[in-house]
Amino acid sequence: MAEPQVIVAGAGPAGLTAALFLARAGVPVRVLERHTEPFEDPRAATIHPPTMEMYAESGVTADLLAQGIRAPIWQFRGRAEGVVAEFDLSLLADVTPFPFRLQCEQHKLCRILLNHLSRHAHAEVVWGVEVTGVTQDQDGVSIEAADGTTHRAAYVIGADGGRSVVRKSQGIAFEGFTYRERFLVVTTTEDMAAKGYAISSYVSDPVTWCAMFKVPGKAAPGLWRIVFPTDPEAEEAGLLDFAAARDRVRALIPQDGDFPVVHTNLYAVHQRVAATFRQGRVLLAGDAAHVNNPLGGMGMNFGVHDAILAAQRIAAVLDGGADDLLDRYSRQRRHVAEAFLQAMTIANKKNLEEKDPVARTARLAELRATAADPAKARAHLLKTSMIEGVRAAAAVA
Ligand SMILES: Cc1cc2nc3c(=O)[nH]c(=O)nc-3n(C[C@H](O)[C@H](O)[C@H](O)COP(=O)(O)OP(=O)(O)OC[C@H]3O[C@@H](n4cnc5c(N)ncnc54)[C@H](O)[C@@H]3O)c2cc1C
Repeated sequence: MAEPQVIVAGAGPAGLTAALFLARAGVPVRVLERHTEPFEDPRAATIHPPTMEMYAESGVTADLLAQGIRAPIWQFRGRAEGVVAEFDLSLLADVTPFPFRLQCEQHKLCRILLNHLSRHAHAEVVWGVEVTGVTQDQDGVSIEAADGTTHRAAYVIGADGGRSVVRKSQGIAFEGFTYRERFLVVTTTEDMAAKGYAISSYVSDPVTWCAMFKVPGKAAPGLWRIVFPTDPEAEEAGLLDFAAARDRVRALIPQDGDFPVVHTNLYAVHQRVAATFRQGRVLLAGDAAHVNNPLGGMGMNFGVHDAILAAQRIAAVLDGGADDLLDRYSRQRRHVAEAFLQAMTIANKKNLEEKDPVARTARLAELRATAADPAKARAHLLKTSMIEGVRAAAAVA
């Protein structure tokens, strides 16, 4: 392969997307990934309409559609109240060719991206290389790796996740906070749709709220993942225990007898945004630039949107475009990361866990009224489907 003009740190969804869009623009690109092969942990699984639109031309969307589950309808429920509001993305059929959420696991998206990337001779993914430092000078960027190699390029995209070495190497602050409680994800084969839940459902409760969604898994009929808050003082072993997890699920679908829990995992939840998404020849994208709770399924999608814009802007600058295109990348993405991604995910958690009975009743009434009024439902859908945020980013000068 020719010497890369861009090095991407991290072969997650953001890094691989950036690499694919650079390769498609004719830019030689190398991805450095510390894992020795594609990683398969249960993480994101919801793909929103703008992401499908952005991937359509590359053929990635067609591959996603072949593997994913379409979910036009999502529900907001109260644990005691049952269904409070149902939102149907078909209402947006006039503004997007993909008026639904697509449920498809993050690692499958990565495999699809790798497959598309492999068709470009001027793109390569190097596995088992951990970036340890990045320094820049007037002419380019040097990337140090743990195996002793040094890589040189004109630009670097740091897509190396929430603990980004690239971000830290540039001294870029990661402002925000970490929730006290961790989230527990329980995976079950129990068919929650048969109990009336939509493929994507949020259940509010002052004590044990939860969010659930279906994923295709390895084979039909698929799996359900349910996200619960946990007591910050509780022991990890007890939280991960399958029998305890089963009891949590059982409380949602009162029934006797056993049913399978196939996986549990716990993770810390942060709300943070990098102070800048661009410093000289270094751009940040994805979790390296922002982290948030998973309620609303937006983190990965937002990272993909960063990655596509970062790739387009670097390609334009390499082609003679003004350097300010890269500053505008930072202004645009940082603005919507604060105004939409952070604001909406923080509000989503607050709405699910609201403890004040008066505020909770008012919020449920507001959601019922929103779902019942087509104009309000449409506005709500434009926001929660990320379409409004994409439009807002485009409007930032
Ligand atoms: C349980 C859970 C559920 C979620 N659900 C959703 C959802 O439904 N929808 C949604 O949009 N988002 C969701 N998210 C968030 C989503 O998973 C992340 O936003 C997404 O993974 C970010 O992608 P990324 O490519 O930026 O980072 P990552 O996926 O973290 O990828 C970073 C890559 O960089 C590599 N790397 C790290 N450090 C180095 C280094 N020093 N050198 C080389 N390589 C390195 C890592 O190994 C990794 O492969 C969820 C997250 C969790 C934890």
